[in-house]
Amino acid sequence: MSESSRRKLVAGNWKMNTTRASAVELARGVAQVSAGRGDVKVLVCPPFPYLCAAKSALEGSAVELGAQDVYFEPPGAFTGEVAVSMLIDVGCRYVIIGHSERRHVLGETDTLLNRKVSAAIAGGLDVIFCVGEQLAQREANQTQNTIDTQMAGGLDGLADTALEQLTIAYEPVWAIGTGRTASPQQAEDVHLYLRKWLADRYNPRRAQCTRILYGGSVNAKNALELLSQPDVDGALVGGASLKIETFQPIIEAAAAATGGAGGKSC
Ligand code: PEP
Repeated sequence: MSESSRRKLVAGNWKMNTTRASAVELARGVAQVSAGRGDVKVLVCPPFPYLCAAKSALEGSAVELGAQDVYFEPPGAFTGEVAVSMLIDVGCRYVIIGHSERRHVLGETDTLLNRKVSAAIAGGLDVIFCVGEQLAQREANQTQNTIDTQMAGGLDGLADTALEQLTIAYEPVWAIGTGRTASPQQAEDVHLYLRKWLADRYNPRRAQCTRILYGGSVNAKNALELLSQPDVDGALVGGASLKIETFQPIIEAAAAATGGAGGKSC
């Protein structure tokens, strides 16, 4: 992130949803409702097959395009995988890495995620790196330990300057797609812990300048309070990003939470 502020970012993770036609319609809708919205950054992450169509639908708008995953090797014999350079080629600026569905459904490990994060940053993408505890870990008071392991594993070997291209998304697994949201205070506590982690492992400036999103059942009703927390710099939105009627209010909540200030400077 080469901005000098933590301008709020609202990112839509469309997961394995939409058709080509509905992806285009949704992208057009997001472009429309985001027009003139310089106070909030908006990103959509369609499935791989619809990236090009979505990119065309976003033409002329400030809405960014991202992918939901990437492989760490350069183009070659890796059947089914997608390279960093390919995502850049089709107009992606961002990639989500380490989403809980990839960790827990697809079995991706911290070591694999570290290779993906390193390759994506080296290849010029901005990374949204997801971390978050499962319910049993929260109940066993293991939230901070879990975050420590995921952060240390995922960012292993990355220099401070590489983190210019890093956004963190705190996504408690028990809140993703469940309708159960972290309370604003629970979210703020973990975001603050992540900043402390960045200050200890890197430096205070990195802690101050890194954008940290909250994700987990964000919707029109809870967005304003979550996004008004001092260390919550935006939202990674799944279900509610699939309809313009439910995504638009979250973008508006982000703007209202910013109060025209354009985000914390660093
Ligand atoms: C997500 O997929 O990153 C997510 C937060 O999903 P949902 O908003 O549906 O909980």
